[in-house]
Amino acid sequence: MNFFNAPIHTWYSLYKRDLPWRKTRNPYFIWLSEIILQQTRIDQGLAYYLRFTEEFPTISSLADASEDQILKLWQGLGYYSRARNLHFTAKYIRQQLNGEFPGDYDSIRSLKGIGEYTAAAIASISFNLEYAAVDGNAYRVLSRFFGITEPIDSSAGKKIFTNLAKELIMGTNPGMHNQALMEFGALQCTPKNPDCLKCPLSERCLAFTTHRIAELPVKKNKTKQRDRYFNYIVLAGKNHTWMRKRVGKDIWENLFEFPLVETTEEKSIRELLEQDEFRQMNEADYSVIENVSSWKIHILSHQRIHYRFIRIRLSREINMPGDLIRVNKEDIFNFAVPKLLETYLSENGQDVLFK
Ligand code: SF4
Repeated sequence: MNFFNAPIHTWYSLYKRDLPWRKTRNPYFIWLSEIILQQTRIDQGLAYYLRFTEEFPTISSLADASEDQILKLWQGLGYYSRARNLHFTAKYIRQQLNGEFPGDYDSIRSLKGIGEYTAAAIASISFNLEYAAVDGNAYRVLSRFFGITEPIDSSAGKKIFTNLAKELIMGTNPGMHNQALMEFGALQCTPKNPDCLKCPLSERCLAFTTHRIAELPVKKNKTKQRDRYFNYIVLAGKNHTWMRKRVGKDIWENLFEFPLVETTEEKSIRELLEQDEFRQMNEADYSVIENVSSWKIHILSHQRIHYRFIRIRLSREINMPGDLIRVNKEDIFNFAVPKLLETYLSENGQDVLFK
């Protein structure tokens, strides 16, 4: 397999990006970088990695933080269960493993929030163990170079790619090899228009020599997306508003948001305010609808969130149900909120919301 490995390893030594997690083998930092970089571009993830390692330089410091602190620092990165699992696992390592990150694959894989890919990445990079970490970039390179037409998301395809990746990693420096293959896919063998004429693998690449680059890799399932309609009711009182912590197994668990009316389609404002908790809003002397934003769409991997903000100016004090928190003007930016609320708050600012 040297005809494949050698050019990739040389290419990596010449062109790899200079990234902080490539200068360490500390499993805590490798773990942190891998979790942050799941579903995240490197340029965006880098800022979060630096913030986390500065704020929480050790597993114990991460374990000691409150969940709200961690979610606030994670804000904007999405897929918040990753942050909650990080926190859970940091506490587990401190309490059950004397603060020592485990050094064998099976123990790493058994930690909450760590799947096969992440366990292999940590085992190979931090502990020099021969476990192949195959991400989407590596799948692309393998399927194109070796001309594999089996879908990457089928069980037959997974078996083929796993066996091939295992064979390729044998006898290499495993951490370097895994990173080289993934980096090669990210920068050289890109999803669209890879620069094959400058590729050190082009002579033996089956996709290139048989003109099938656009067809590979093959994917079986297209992700189905669900449409949800989020109507946020922003209750703008004198120097305060109301927010609620999201609970239950759903997106953005434990983040804060304005009172929400979720529907399966667009509904009129009058229908929204018929909900029990807004009944007071229907009485004219209590409130006035000050602003209704246009519908926007926030895309998640399996969902399309259609959302808008309906700002209601309160003309007198109201009492809201117990799970709603009264938030004062000066505290509004201290809460961990989903990205779309963060944008709304920064665009509308304290002076617009609070009068
Ligand atoms: S020749 Fe093109 S398709 Fe083949 S590995 Fe290189 S960049 Fe990818």
